[in-house]
Amino acid sequence: MVSDYRITGATGEWEVVIGLEVHAQVTSNAKLFSGASTTFGAEPNTQVSLVDAAMPGMLPVPNRECIRQAVRTGMAIEAKINNWSRFDRKNYFYADLPQGYQISQLYHPLVGEGEITVLLDDKDEASARTIGVERIHLEQDAGKLMHDQHPTMSYVDLNRSGVALMEIVSKPDMCSPAEAGAYLRKLRAILRYVGSCDGNMEEGSMRADVNVSVRKPGPITSENPLGTRTETKNVNSVRFVMAVIEHEARRQVEVIEGGGAIVQETRLYDPDKNVTRTLRSKEDAHDYRYFPDPDLLPLELDEAFLADCRASLPELPDAKRKRFENLDIGAYNASILTAEVETARWFDQLLEEGADPVAASNWVAGELFGALNRLGKTIVDSPVGPKQAAELLALIADKTLSGSLAKQVFEIMLDTGQDAGAVVEERGLKQTSDTGAIDAEIDNILAANAEKVQQYKDGKEALFGFFVGQTMKAMAGKANPGVVNERLRSKLG
Ligand code: ADP
Ligand code: MG
Repeated sequence: MVSDYRITGATGEWEVVIGLEVHAQVTSNAKLFSGASTTFGAEPNTQVSLVDAAMPGMLPVPNRECIRQAVRTGMAIEAKINNWSRFDRKNYFYADLPQGYQISQLYHPLVGEGEITVLLDDKDEASARTIGVERIHLEQDAGKLMHDQHPTMSYVDLNRSGVALMEIVSKPDMCSPAEAGAYLRKLRAILRYVGSCDGNMEEGSMRADVNVSVRKPGPITSENPLGTRTETKNVNSVRFVMAVIEHEARRQVEVIEGGGAIVQETRLYDPDKNVTRTLRSKEDAHDYRYFPDPDLLPLELDEAFLADCRASLPELPDAKRKRFENLDIGAYNASILTAEVETARWFDQLLEEGADPVAASNWVAGELFGALNRLGKTIVDSPVGPKQAAELLALIADKTLSGSLAKQVFEIMLDTGQDAGAVVEERGLKQTSDTGAIDAEIDNILAANAEKVQQYKDGKEALFGFFVGQTMKAMAGKANPGVVNERLRSKLG
């Protein structure tokens, strides 16, 4: 994969190689192997079944919905779905892991190779890069240790214990912070369109382990192989992922150029200081003593289940963007209107209400986004819905409203929740093309500004705007600007 991104060190340029392991919490009401609730923010230890607390003799029962969500996610990235997969135990001791092992899938993951295409530049198809996904497997989340509740003790909250995670492992295919950022944003969008993860990075529903190595530029050969990587754990924002890559790549170049070697290790990111530091040197996978979980049968998916998963997939971001682009709304609008699933749905509804795609896309990207931004709201809780917006756009299209009247009407709609037609009627905000009324105002204005009229006739053409402005003001903004222009030109000769 070609990239222009290079780190310049004392010995010349270095290429950066990045692979991401993303943990995405599966959207489901219950946990992966128990019926306990997964609702975020509950009181500690109120959502813990005997299975999650690892009471002796408790048996895990796979949650069909979690499997369905992971399969749908795999299908959304064109991945190979493995009709036969198996759960393994990954053994380790930690206070937030009551079982003493995590149920995961090492040898036979549910989903095999797939790919995700990202645009490095929203407006440019030529900036597309395809990044390989190695696998997606299902595993259990651990509990949470709380070190700040008591001066001498740590507490443990098991609400998260046993919640289903999809681990989405990329190939080491990315080579710049921007590319990794674009990959994460795209993956998040796909998960949210599919509905398999809410993508909420602040709440930890999606977090990334960032693998970084550096090497001298050029093809991968035995003389110039991939460098040794470090893995920075649990990074919870796109911005931090990009910062980790930048920082870690520079650190590695310094170490190597200083005569040292990179050791494969796990690191932690400190966002306050913007540094990464060693957490532990990398355990070899064998240390986990993986073995097939004897409490669980292998997962075998039948054709009906797979067909149902496929049939339930929505239109995905790329397809939607292409469809919008074909409406001639421009690559940029198509991109921003599809970046978030809620925006795309809203815009689709607006189109279903009969709005003209070009006018509607400009209005959403300009007026609506501007207003929501100002009000601190998202499109989901927009005070004006798609149906109301379609009516407003229709009033602009049939020239009942000029651009500036439409802005006024929209403001009132945002304030009162009224429909556009009602606002126009109630407040008399209709645009007028009545030449009688417009002519009368123009005559007054020209008479009152005889000096300016003379200057205009002597060649000071910039004054035309002044006459337009005065006329619009006299008509309280309601005159049709086209008619005002036309009448002024004819009167001023
Ligand atoms: P583990 O589970 O031990 O972390 P994996 O083989 O699953 O190991 O790889 C983890 C991640 O590391 C993958 O996303 C992969 O793309 C990435 N990776 C592997 N080799 C390199 C490398 N040399 N540089 C950067 N990333 C790498
Ligand atoms: Mg890893």
